[in-house]
Amino acid sequence: METPKTITCKNCNSVIDFDAFIKNLNVCPDCDAHYPLSASNRMKLLVDKGSFEEYDANLYSIDALEFPEYTEKLERDINKTGLRSEMLSGIAKIGGISVAIAIGDVGFIGGTCGAVIGEKVTRCIEIAEEKNLPLVIVSVSGGMRMQEGTLALMQMAKTAAACTKYVNNGGFYISVVTDPTFGGATASYTSLGDVIIAEPGARVGFAGPLAVASLQEELPENFQKAESLVSHGFIDHIVHRNEMRRLLTYLISYT
Ligand SMILES: [Zn+2]
Repeated sequence: METPKTITCKNCNSVIDFDAFIKNLNVCPDCDAHYPLSASNRMKLLVDKGSFEEYDANLYSIDALEFPEYTEKLERDINKTGLRSEMLSGIAKIGGISVAIAIGDVGFIGGTCGAVIGEKVTRCIEIAEEKNLPLVIVSVSGGMRMQEGTLALMQMAKTAAACTKYVNNGGFYISVVTDPTFGGATASYTSLGDVIIAEPGARVGFAGPLAVASLQEELPENFQKAESLVSHGFIDHIVHRNEMRRLLTYLISYT
């Protein structure tokens, strides 16, 4: 597929040179709108060069419910992203300190959370506990994966239980939320961080705005946006993508 030379920012309508956009970490140079970043690019951005050791790379989803077109969608997104699941996880160093880390990729079935993601998140938390490491999870999620039904929904309880056990045993969990983070991920591991950090403009919520708008005519300004959630105490801090690594290094240095 041919790479576009320019793209139009959906936030400010600026026509942006594509190479400049990529160089700017998928952030609009004119209005600072943060667009999704692949899990592998975000890993490169956040961790010390060459320090990432991937775990559970061979876990992949199966079509247990024989949901229509699910197998085809999985194959399509495996080819598109080069990942076998929606999440890249393992151990890496940030500022010279080892951390257990998991990063989501919205390009894989909309970043939805199925049985494999639940298992990878849980294993990442358990590794952090076992090795006494800080935990960093960067979430992006379209909710629980409907193609896996109850098998996906069960992951909410599993990941939440693992988080709670880790934190109660003295673990330090930094949850980073990026646009968009919705559904069961928000209602489980994403919201259980000791510190919750968001990128500017990140939409974070349980039901999406269209579902909420069907019940309530007027939504408040900045509804489900990080800026509003900070003022309500749900998110602790908002930081620009190019400052995220520095903030993580600062927080982890206290462990
Ligand atoms: Zn813009």
